[in-house]
Amino acid sequence: MAFELPPLPYPRKALEPHLSGRTLDFHHGKHHKAYVDALNALVEGTPESAMSLEEIIVATHHDDTKAALFNNAAQAWNHAFFWRCMKVEGGGEPAGAVKKAIDRDLGGYKEFAAAFKDAATTQFGSGWAWLVLDAGKLRVLKTANAINPVAGGQAALLTCDVWEHAYYLDYQNRRPDFVAAFLEHLVNWEFVAENLEMATERSAAAS
Ligand code: ZN
Repeated sequence: MAFELPPLPYPRKALEPHLSGRTLDFHHGKHHKAYVDALNALVEGTPESAMSLEEIIVATHHDDTKAALFNNAAQAWNHAFFWRCMKVEGGGEPAGAVKKAIDRDLGGYKEFAAAFKDAATTQFGSGWAWLVLDAGKLRVLKTANAINPVAGGQAALLTCDVWEHAYYLDYQNRRPDFVAAFLEHLVNWEFVAENLEMATERSAAAS
């Protein structure tokens, strides 16, 4: 079965004025679709066609001969995850278990936001900023190009796409403004809470 482009979890103009419908048309309809199409062409007739995206990412990330497969599988995964990290009238400070974990491991929301902005704006060139659960602790990190926490054995909780294609139509070169809008108006903390709960259960089951 071929990999499919998952639909956006909201109407394409729903995140305006922070992200335009035009940006989502290109980013989801062209860029994300191109990764899924390229992945399907690469796996056709190979054992990887029966694997999940996560399995392909883990199996190929140290294999230079499979860089194209890794890059397209990881970008397909990253984008599907990124769309779910945003919602209408999201952003601001989290509550509940996520707030507790941020207070415990990162020193509070302000410190988290500063670290996330720093990761997102200092990622040189294309890449991603992440909040992950790593060995039972929250961490903020950045990755280059298609690399993601799945490849590193960490659980992704939140991501922001900092490839230029994510913000250029709306923010041109002002990546910090895009990241600020993402944190203040777009983050879907309920999705982060679901990811944290799943990751915590998995790490408890494994230990
Ligand atoms: Zn992107």
